[in-house]
Amino acid sequence: MERFIVMNKLQLAACVTLLFSAFLVLPVQAADANWQLTWHGQACFTIVTPDGVRILIDPPDPSVGFPGPAGSFDVVLISHEHFDHNYTAGLPKGQRVIRGLTDGGKHVSQVNISVKGTQITTVPSFHDKNKGKDRGLNTIFVVQSKGKRLVHLGDLGHTLTPSGALGKVDILLIPVGGFYTIDATEAKEVVDALKPGAVIPMHYKTPKSSVKELSPPDKFESLMAGRIVKVSTNSIPIDEKKLKEGTKAYLLSPP
Ligand SMILES: [Zn+2]
Repeated sequence: MERFIVMNKLQLAACVTLLFSAFLVLPVQAADANWQLTWHGQACFTIVTPDGVRILIDPPDPSVGFPGPAGSFDVVLISHEHFDHNYTAGLPKGQRVIRGLTDGGKHVSQVNISVKGTQITTVPSFHDKNKGKDRGLNTIFVVQSKGKRLVHLGDLGHTLTPSGALGKVDILLIPVGGFYTIDATEAKEVVDALKPGAVIPMHYKTPKSSVKELSPPDKFESLMAGRIVKVSTNSIPIDEKKLKEGTKAYLLSPP
């Protein structure tokens, strides 16, 4: 009987030890820190944040030549009121639309909202190098999720300095096609100033685009030589690992 009890105590000790080691060995469930980006042409992206928030930004009018996004969104962001960035008519009813500019683009709207853990803020900027006198205002959207920051530059018309207004930039969506926005050389300057982990070029000439004044991405590619990754689709996941590799530009295929 006594021997039986001793066995039981041993078994209990073994169980407790096993339980503790199980807790020690079990990996802490890593948060799913993936961003999923899908390019719909021009400056339009579906962005799914690590919090699982579905964001659409800058949907273009169909006349620009792209098929347009599918599905519904937690929030739709509009950087400025030009037809190739603000086509909300084609979206499902009841979408929450956040505009960076008010009064048809005349004034800046200071956005600071939280959607299911994802923070969305704005930094005002200009569509040209002349304080907006030529092409008006533009909004830079900053999307923060799980400690990482994605910045969409809209139709930025001037270079940026690392002034702190944008804070740390992990993923940068940047126009490179010139004419209406910064060109390849200026885009490279912005990349060098902000030092993001991942760069996604946008707003450049593609076979489907009807905006003929834009340049193709070739010059930006050569300026970023050795740091360009060509992606065979219009969609890319971005995880922590990609952001730790130093600045790389991911050239997505047009939709
Ligand atoms: Zn514009």
